[in-house]
Amino acid sequence: MQTIVIATHNAHKLEELRAILGDAATGFEFVPTDGPDPVEDGVTFAENALIKARAAVAHSGLPALADDSGLAVDALGGAPGIYSKRFAGTGVDADNTAKLLDELAGLPDPADRRAQFLCAAAFVAPDGTEAVEVAVWPGVILPEPVGDGGFGYDPVFRPDGLDRGLAELTPAEKNAVSHRAMAFRRIMPAVAAWSAGTA
Ligand code: IMP
Repeated sequence: MQTIVIATHNAHKLEELRAILGDAATGFEFVPTDGPDPVEDGVTFAENALIKARAAVAHSGLPALADDSGLAVDALGGAPGIYSKRFAGTGVDADNTAKLLDELAGLPDPADRRAQFLCAAAFVAPDGTEAVEVAVWPGVILPEPVGDGGFGYDPVFRPDGLDRGLAELTPAEKNAVSHRAMAFRRIMPAVAAWSAGTA
């Protein structure tokens, strides 16, 4: 069993990761980091994911996985992007979605409300091995919040190909296709290859 530190203090994220990876997690034990949060001063999702993974490796001496994600809205030039969590300045999800809907108020046509969730998943090992994968989940910003599940911008995002908003999906439905699921599934071959090389 290879222990992998997950650069989060959030137990829910560990559970989500196990659910996302399913069989791809076989042979790995995921544990949360107990180190300090690094300053995320990268300018891309990939840089910030690598910063978090490197910090977890430096603290633990073990290989680590980290992710960084957010929402990029075309009409806003890619904002809020890496600043998704702090968009409204309060850290409150409802404030962020209200600000987003406000900024798009003059653009009722769905064609003008295109957006993507992005997630970078980074793997870093103590021997200096590094890998990063970025996944994009395209969709549209809804005119108003719908549904009462999910978190963050879920109530105002409808992924392409679905007839419901993200906050109307079950966690299992979201985990099947989300940006985070895609990024972690794509990074696991690098983790497995590194693990096989050290066995
Ligand atoms: P984190 O990097 O996973 O902490 O995500 C940063 C911010 O991006 C969150 O606080 C949310 O505002 C937004 N975000 C990222 N992923 C999602 C998602 O799946 N649904 C809704 N909001 C998300």
